[in-house]
Amino acid sequence: MIAAVRPQADPPPEATRAPEAVLPQDVHATEAVRATEAAHAPGAAPATARRRPMVAHDLDGLPVPRAAYPLTRLPRNEPHASLDGARIVVSGGRGMGDLAAFPILYDIAARLGGAVGASLPAVDAGWAPVTRQVGISGKYVSPDIYLAIGISGTPQHLAGIDPHTRIVAINNDEQANIFNVAEAGVVAEWQVLLPALLNALDHPGDA
Ligand SMILES: Cc1cc2nc3c(=O)[nH]c(=O)nc-3n(C[C@H](O)[C@H](O)[C@H](O)COP(=O)(O)OP(=O)(O)OC[C@H]3O[C@@H](n4cnc5c(N)ncnc54)[C@H](O)[C@@H]3O)c2cc1C
Repeated sequence: MIAAVRPQADPPPEATRAPEAVLPQDVHATEAVRATEAAHAPGAAPATARRRPMVAHDLDGLPVPRAAYPLTRLPRNEPHASLDGARIVVSGGRGMGDLAAFPILYDIAARLGGAVGASLPAVDAGWAPVTRQVGISGKYVSPDIYLAIGISGTPQHLAGIDPHTRIVAINNDEQANIFNVAEAGVVAEWQVLLPALLNALDHPGDA
């Protein structure tokens, strides 16, 4: 394949390549560079009076750069509030059990005007996208309230929560470390507590 290119008008001096950097297949380009340099020499004709030659580049045989992976973007179909800047985070961990359990977290977060977070195991299991992972290898969040559900409270997870944030924990193990850092906590199965919480948020007068 042959590509014909007219050299750019008046390139800055630094745009011209050093001779030792020129590859053999760039021999025509080298001539163009020389022509450009000559045009810039003292006493050369003004730019409007000069006619730059077309330069033919033989593109066959040039290495084609290849991406290591397809350069495609995933569709932006995340309908839920972002973790970034959220004042309330409703976060689920391994104790949520499976993917089908996560929608109730989104429901509660939506009622509270908050966003859903997750621990690394929940993300690894595919229950939440990696953009929602909180922790040392995830996001650092600083909401007013962090509702930790089925999260044991490992240092790697707590490292992603601002020390000023008030943590409220729901865990069925009263020995879970999360209770050592939580402002408030409930020892309970989330399967019992979260539907009741959702109902209370939907019908505040019933409580
Ligand atoms: C280099 C490195 C980086 C890491 N980075 C991160 C990170 O960024 N974020 C992160 O989160 N982790 C990270 N981890 C992993 C971390 O060490 C823990 O494995 C992880 O935080 C534990 O997540 P978890 O609390 O969800 O799970 P678990 O520790 O397994 O805790 C699950 C909890 O759920 C409770 N539970 C179970 N069933 C119920 C129920 N029905 N109702 C209520 N509670 C229930 C259990 O009592 C338990 O306390 C990292 C680890 C390493 C080595």
